[in-house]
Amino acid sequence: MKSHIDTASATETEDFARSLGERLRGGEVLELVSDLGGGKTTFTRGLAKGFGSEDKVASPTFTVSKVYKSGNKELHHFDFYRLNDPGIMTHELHDLLEDPSVVLVIEWAEAVHHVLPDERLTILLARTGDDSRQIDLTYPDKLRYLVDGLC
Ligand code: ADP
Ligand code: MG
Repeated sequence: MKSHIDTASATETEDFARSLGERLRGGEVLELVSDLGGGKTTFTRGLAKGFGSEDKVASPTFTVSKVYKSGNKELHHFDFYRLNDPGIMTHELHDLLEDPSVVLVIEWAEAVHHVLPDERLTILLARTGDDSRQIDLTYPDKLRYLVDGLC
């Protein structure tokens, strides 16, 4: 299934992502795709807020992953940009994918596609201007509860 929304500012992107984040139950995998500066980390900031985390979201580029907690659930934010050998993360990803209390959000996921379930939400952010983005969401029926009625 596919949906899309146009945003006119970083705040609008964050607000949309926050609404989506409020619907996360645990066990979902989200893949964020865009060029550098497209808004993946901005989107994740909104997601983490909606998920219920009070922690500040920054790009994990130099740490590979960060964890945001909400109650007994965790949102794990990975960024594989510049990681030479994403293969080293395969085992960790595999363990996290088995955990129904974990939400996985991944930037630059191409190198680990083979580990990820086909049933994931793919979020594509395309720059349409300095402050505007077109956000395309692709998801299986199983994950429609994340998007239904939002856009
Ligand atoms: P990425 O993680 O994809 O490299 P970031 O989220 O770190 O991208 O950076 C996106 C940049 O674009 C931020 O500086 C943000 O403020 C800006 N921006 C401007 N308009 C938008 C928008 N509509 N949605 C998301 N980010 C936007
Ligand atoms: Mg980023």
